[in-house]
Amino acid sequence: MTQGRGVRLAMEAMILDRPGHELRAAEVAPPEPAVGQALVRVDACGICRTDLHVVDGELPDPKLPLVPGHQVVGRVTEAGTACETLRVGDRVGVPWLGWTCGVCRYCASGRENLCDQARFTGYGLDGGFAEQLAADERYCLPLPEGYPDAQVAPLLCAGLIGYRALRMAGEAERLGLYGFGASAHIVCQVARSQGRRVFALTRAEDLEAQRFALELGAEWAGDALARPPEELDAAIIFAPVGELVPAALEAVAKGGTVVCAGIHMSDIPSFPYELLWGERTVRSVANLTRRDGEEFLALAPQVPIRTHVETFALEDAQKALDRLRAGEVRGAAVLDLAGSGPRAPSERDASELGG
Ligand SMILES: [Zn+2]
Ligand SMILES: [Zn+2]
Repeated sequence: MTQGRGVRLAMEAMILDRPGHELRAAEVAPPEPAVGQALVRVDACGICRTDLHVVDGELPDPKLPLVPGHQVVGRVTEAGTACETLRVGDRVGVPWLGWTCGVCRYCASGRENLCDQARFTGYGLDGGFAEQLAADERYCLPLPEGYPDAQVAPLLCAGLIGYRALRMAGEAERLGLYGFGASAHIVCQVARSQGRRVFALTRAEDLEAQRFALELGAEWAGDALARPPEELDAAIIFAPVGELVPAALEAVAKGGTVVCAGIHMSDIPSFPYELLWGERTVRSVANLTRRDGEEFLALAPQVPIRTHVETFALEDAQKALDRLRAGEVRGAAVLDLAGSGPRAPSERDASELGG
């Protein structure tokens, strides 16, 4: 086992003791990398709506106590026993998908995102709201060059899940994005680069989000519960609001698809069959595969995707979650650990190895 430089006996972490309670700042022992795991020093960690669902208790049975966070950008400080690919100093992304069984019907058919045994970072496994985490090297993703840590973090879930949702939308030319937060602001750029026309649908009064969407290339932005100016070929729903499903079905043309991209949504109200008739499809997108990650992270610099981030210090993670809950974040919220708090010079050396 290689001892990384700058290893410390304690680390700062934001801990969820119980869903429905605020995160607690604590000094805890750093994780010990298990076989096949690397110890990663966290430089940035994106905040996702899923983190809110975990903290608020809307997702069942999280690991407790838990370090949330699943859009982790960091450097390997220790490659554990049996690590074959990662080396000390490597810059890696640690996404939501943290482990899968590898042998079930889903894993064997390229659908590891649906594995029943899957374990998720910042939910069943400790995540990146901490100075360090241990991650299975097989699920770490290579990050594109040219993105500072805080800017690349939101690509790891907001971008990735958005990209998977966009693929599920098929060839749709007229694309509706319901909810214009971290995911939509990335998907909008990808969709525009593919020559699609983007319509942004937000809460009626959220003029700032609508303006933001127009800046990023949407040709129209307006009230999600009203009809857009023309029929859509597909809609992706990012907002966790069940009422948007019948609204989006009403907005899509015959043969159109409505993709629900969130892990949690309030109940969908009943609606007349007529809204589904005409070969319309409603589907969800669940998690990611490693292949999605590799494809999307290779694509990002080609678009090129520019992420808009609001950064917070690690100890302000709760404040960041509160702002996200209130819809006050423009683009993506990111914990920027490299910019906050003192670091030993030896650790800084290691960070420069990864570019
Ligand atoms: Zn499996
Ligand atoms: Zn996420």
